[in-house]
Amino acid sequence: MSLLSLHLLGSPVLRQRSAEVGAVDEDVRRLVDDMFETMDAAHGVGLAANQVGIARRVAVVDADGDRFAMIDPVVVETEGSSTAEEGCLSIPEIYADVTRPERVVIEALDREGNRYRREATGLKARAIQHEIDHLDGILFLDHLSLMRRQMLMSRWRREHKDDTSHIKEVQPAADRAE
Ligand code: ZN
Repeated sequence: MSLLSLHLLGSPVLRQRSAEVGAVDEDVRRLVDDMFETMDAAHGVGLAANQVGIARRVAVVDADGDRFAMIDPVVVETEGSSTAEEGCLSIPEIYADVTRPERVVIEALDREGNRYRREATGLKARAIQHEIDHLDGILFLDHLSLMRRQMLMSRWRREHKDDTSHIKEVQPAADRAE
């Protein structure tokens, strides 16, 4: 397994609609494994493939004690509404309250290529929706009011005006103090 580099806000791949996977092969399984490792090292609750520069419909989630891959995920049911703070590994240090359905049912393929259905509420439902948004080129900032989004975007631009690239290396978890 290997750690992948994260694409940050400004990288065009984050705004792309990712392509369907179709059949799960060895390349997809390796991508899933590397994404789990990268998500863990970055202390995320979810990660989508375009965040590591690969525009395919693959995401991983680790929330509320449930850890799973979603390949070609589709939302088949939503219910209710809930508001909570979100952040994103591709937009470090920016957080905002986002309103989304409280409960979601999805269908997706797992790492072995088997189709499954999963129901989620709370943090897990939020992470699932956040990751599926990524696969459609949508960021959590897009759910905010125009004014709030512009405020956070100008803060981001100010803090990142000296960046020479939109790519960030992830440090192995073992190398960091807990
Ligand atoms: Zn994100």
